[in-house]
Amino acid sequence: MPRVVVTGGAGFLGSHLADALLARGDEVVAIDNLVTGDTANIEHLIQHDGFSFVRADVSNYMWVPGDVDVVMHFASPASPVDYLEMPIQTLKVGSLGTHNSLGLAKAKGATFFMASTSEVYGDPLVHPQTEEYWGNVNPVGPRGVYDEAKRFSEAMTMAYHRHHGLDTRIVRIFNTYGPRMRPNDGRVVSNFIIQALSGEPITIYGDGSQTRSFTFVDDEIRGFLALLDSDVTSPTNIGNPNEFTISELAELVVELTASTSEITYHDLPVDDPTQRKPDISKAKELLGWEPTIQLREGLERTITYFAGVLERR
Ligand code: UDP
Repeated sequence: MPRVVVTGGAGFLGSHLADALLARGDEVVAIDNLVTGDTANIEHLIQHDGFSFVRADVSNYMWVPGDVDVVMHFASPASPVDYLEMPIQTLKVGSLGTHNSLGLAKAKGATFFMASTSEVYGDPLVHPQTEEYWGNVNPVGPRGVYDEAKRFSEAMTMAYHRHHGLDTRIVRIFNTYGPRMRPNDGRVVSNFIIQALSGEPITIYGDGSQTRSFTFVDDEIRGFLALLDSDVTSPTNIGNPNEFTISELAELVVELTASTSEITYHDLPVDDPTQRKPDISKAKELLGWEPTIQLREGLERTITYFAGVLERR
């Protein structure tokens, strides 16, 4: 059975990925320093024969004994609030952490899978975003610590691919939501749901006309596995192309939670992208992948999850 190292394996995406890999019979070694990850996300896996967990910071030297077939690099703060609070750690995990993860893959003769992001497109001037678009990123703005770290990760991955002949994949992940998002990670879906369920004001940043395209976590993970199992080595968008304004999202969350929360408006964060929507022609054509869970259904499932979290508090 393939043995897969998942960095960031106790995080939101990493832990769902571990579930999916184990479900198909792979072994999983999850590595996480628990800065934004949480052992609660993997506690159901601890008894699983195929699963092991190592608490470590992949920005430092790392070694995994035994055979490794795949290294999937998911470690990084990923919410704007987190990477603004941890700018240096974000830069380090995207640069040194990527280098260490690539080094591990090379030493083991493993496939390397890089979790990149739609943030490589910055505040995009091309809409929707195809993989050919080089992006519009402010390198010295507050979001630059994440965007440039991920752009460096992609460059480093391609250098290992071209120079060392390493088998590599790069996925560009668009806004993904679902169970196990941290209630306090500051992202729009978790913020709005928690606010709506608690009767607190809904905090729209700016006038709410900026857009995002939200992918339910199950669709996203299925896309990762389709990409991993393919031979596509160039960056590939995995995201749901259904685009919503942030105001539309707020209204939908209020409706689905039957909330009495009022909608309030606040300053837009610096360099907040005005629009984002993936072109997924490549994933459709080469991977046969497309999302199946639309926003209303995905939000309903996520609301059920957060209602449980709030009840246990
Ligand atoms: N946003 C908002 N209210 C919030 C949190 C976020 O209006 O409480 C906006 C944010 O300014 C951005 C969008 O929602 O335009 C998505 O933000 P998020 O942090 O989820 O992810 P991003 O796509 O910006 O990385």
